[in-house]
Amino acid sequence: MLDKVVIANRGEIALRILRACRELGIKTVAVHSDADRDLKHVRLADESVCIGPARSDQSYLNVPAIISAAEVTDAVGIHPGYGFLSENAEFAERVEDSGFVFIGPKADSIRTMGDKVAAIEAMQKAGVPCVPGSDGSLGDNDEENMRIAREIGYPIIIKAAGGGGGRGMRVVHAEGSLLNSISLTKSEAGSFFGNDTVYMEKFLETPRHIEIQVLSDGQGHAVHLGERDCSMQRRHQKVVEEAPAPGISEELRNEIGERCVEACIQMNYRGAGTFEFLYENGHFYFIEMNTRVQVEHPVTEMITGIDIVKEQLYIASGEPLRMKQSDIKIQGHAIECRLNAEDSKTFLPSPGKIKAYHAPGGPGIRVESHIYAGYTVPPYYDSMIGKLIAYGENRDVAIARMLGALDEVIIDGINTNIALQKDIISDSAFKVGQTNIHYLEKKLGL
Ligand code: ADP
Repeated sequence: MLDKVVIANRGEIALRILRACRELGIKTVAVHSDADRDLKHVRLADESVCIGPARSDQSYLNVPAIISAAEVTDAVGIHPGYGFLSENAEFAERVEDSGFVFIGPKADSIRTMGDKVAAIEAMQKAGVPCVPGSDGSLGDNDEENMRIAREIGYPIIIKAAGGGGGRGMRVVHAEGSLLNSISLTKSEAGSFFGNDTVYMEKFLETPRHIEIQVLSDGQGHAVHLGERDCSMQRRHQKVVEEAPAPGISEELRNEIGERCVEACIQMNYRGAGTFEFLYENGHFYFIEMNTRVQVEHPVTEMITGIDIVKEQLYIASGEPLRMKQSDIKIQGHAIECRLNAEDSKTFLPSPGKIKAYHAPGGPGIRVESHIYAGYTVPPYYDSMIGKLIAYGENRDVAIARMLGALDEVIIDGINTNIALQKDIISDSAFKVGQTNIHYLEKKLGL
């Protein structure tokens, strides 16, 4: 097992990684910005190193500073968490070239999955179903592009191969605006992502977002841990997640799960990963793969009893996968609400000092958060301050427990989205599991 790990992240996920390391007897090094000296995991870590000023491009994205921190503390591995450098192939390469273990996939896998055209190609090879589309990047031939669009059928969506964070996409409803939309998306993609490659897909109008969690050891073994439904989104950002996805049969789960496992084995994928799909009319369509631990991983942990972060650490230590597909049993239902420091109505960020904090509890309630009374939420980073997870023997129990937890939690001094979360969890369409990726924005009148 790895002896000492640098946690190259902040907030709740840094604390989550620290807890997993402690359980396994791994020593921890917290690397943090100037603004984050008071983070809970910094106080709990065996060692801590300040790696730069508040701005993340000078701290959490500062590759030489992070690698030096690993060197001076004699660490063995680096866990990138999510966001920041977690899906940066150059970082993964620099870490391994410097003699440390990158707790994630090999740089090549990150690179392939970071290019959506290459990712789709790899998935098609492995028999993972994709959205009907251009099968590769679009060229400069207008006639040919018009033909491809007609063949797919409008509406279509133009997407940047290097896109991320919901940017670099444009929906086209009719041929009249196709060529203009292609050139606009190309030039945006060039300036945002430094790569003006674009491709075309059928635009699905009322899909759900369903994703498959996998674990793969890079030694020929992989398993899937079932699916999560993350359809409740605002601006392509997930707000509520749950597992399993309402209405997905065991047969369908295993069918799509097995395809993902096969893709992992073909790619010789190493680590935890997520295959994201749009799901419409009983069909799955691959959109992208995340090559890291995700914010919503706890709902899967609750229904499988598997600690995904611990498994990441075992895999990074070079151990073969500790489970077989037949060992994985899905039991009960789990829901996660993201808690953000933001106004419930305007969504404006609300940094500041937390004057009082009371965490909810009781059967089936899990809190993943770094906040405490007296902690100041800095204005420099993502506004997520934690996650509430409710587990129950079925979905109704999980919903009832989540409503109770949302009523119990007290966070004073800053604005939070707790009121919005109560509204979502008590929504009648959510209660029966009949929403799609546009539902929340419609409900909010956006
Ligand atoms: P990103 O990497 O920016 O998150 P994704 O490819 O994962 O990009 O797409 C983000 C979101 O955009 C999806 O969750 C979905 O809401 C929407 N989207 C992407 N592709 C399609 C499509 N073919 N049809 C409908 N919506 C889509």
